[in-house]
Amino acid sequence: MNQNNTNNPIAILVINCGSSSVKFSLIQPHTGDTLLSGLAECLLTKQASITLKHAQEKTVLPLTSPFDHQSALAVLVQHLHDNNLVNMIKAVGHRVVHGGEKYAQPVLITAKVEQEINQLAALAPLHNPANLIGIKACKTAFSQLPQVAIFDTAFHQTMPEKAYLYGIPSTLYTEHGIRRYGFHGTSHYFVAKQAASLLNKPLSECHLISAHLGNGCSITAIKAGESVDTSLGMTPLEGVMMGTRSGDIDAGIIFHLVNKLGYNIDDVDTLLNKKSGLLGLSQLSNDCRTLEDAMLNSLDEKEQKQATLALRVFCYRIAKSIASYSASLTQLDALIFTGGIGENSSWVRAEIIKQLGLLNFFVCDEKNTAARFGQGGNIAKENARACLVIATNEEWVIAEQSAKLLEL
Ligand code: ADP
Repeated sequence: MNQNNTNNPIAILVINCGSSSVKFSLIQPHTGDTLLSGLAECLLTKQASITLKHAQEKTVLPLTSPFDHQSALAVLVQHLHDNNLVNMIKAVGHRVVHGGEKYAQPVLITAKVEQEINQLAALAPLHNPANLIGIKACKTAFSQLPQVAIFDTAFHQTMPEKAYLYGIPSTLYTEHGIRRYGFHGTSHYFVAKQAASLLNKPLSECHLISAHLGNGCSITAIKAGESVDTSLGMTPLEGVMMGTRSGDIDAGIIFHLVNKLGYNIDDVDTLLNKKSGLLGLSQLSNDCRTLEDAMLNSLDEKEQKQATLALRVFCYRIAKSIASYSASLTQLDALIFTGGIGENSSWVRAEIIKQLGLLNFFVCDEKNTAARFGQGGNIAKENARACLVIATNEEWVIAEQSAKLLEL
């Protein structure tokens, strides 16, 4: 770290751009301090608005025509100017979902990199084009600043062939790139690094299983600090069950839906990506909080049963996935819980851990109940293997890696 940074603080603007939203935060890369954060949403509609959180104040402003990403960034730029924050921004760091096999590291965005992110849209049609919109809008709004791409797939580029190949004809991999890439890499990397510091050893000596449980969920096996397998696949549909995504199913179900039940392929896509998971099984909600509430408090017996069943299937499938990674590791220091559910739901964590006794995971009820809303730590019983609750911070990784690449 540059010693001047203490006197002359710098910040990185971190951008996570979706097709109709932009999440942003202004972060000091060496400390992780967030100076400002916010979200522009409902973009490309007349309801488009931007929420700015700055100095413990929250401001919501409507956007003006054309209600797009550029309109949102114009409001942000004005706010940064009004509050004398512009001069400290040294770069823009973008979360980019798919880096394919090409990008295992952060990269300075050039015209060629943009072109490659565009080509990789073949593998992430919903995400990479949206990320590119953010990159282009920031190039206009912050024309003088370097832009860095941090890829969600990058951390998993250390997976061995046996983990990333599917049991399908090998030409589909060699000619079309069909393989496991994995996602949530920035989050798994961040919590692994935090775990290393809690375990008091270098990351390169840590053997971990990390469970990122949010709306999207993934489990990663980390051997000597590197990802060696992960549950999300070529797309973010594989693996454990999620909020609205099915996770693993028998692929034969798709043929049955199409050949016998009259679904077309778009219907199947919507069914598996948007109507399955916790939402599909419970027929109530994709939101873990709502389901826990229904399980514990609903007076409607059917609703209560369905919420309970959905949560139990969710936890069992996660426990099974965690246990399966004992085949990827030769040692195991800890299991990590992160993401909105992993960081906050003591019920989900307890339900998962109680199915993992064979791996010497046992939960301490008291510690587990206390670990919520930013309170983390080891929730395992004494003498059991560590179970760490760690709040993820992908934005900090993006800021830190951008600063490192640019030697700031
Ligand atoms: P995303 O993947 O969109 O970033 P998050 O990581 O924010 O999502 O996780 C959202 C999930 O976390 C939702 O299912 C939400 O219900 C769950 N969650 C947040 N707080 C709690 C809580 N206190 N108890 C249980 N679940 C929670």
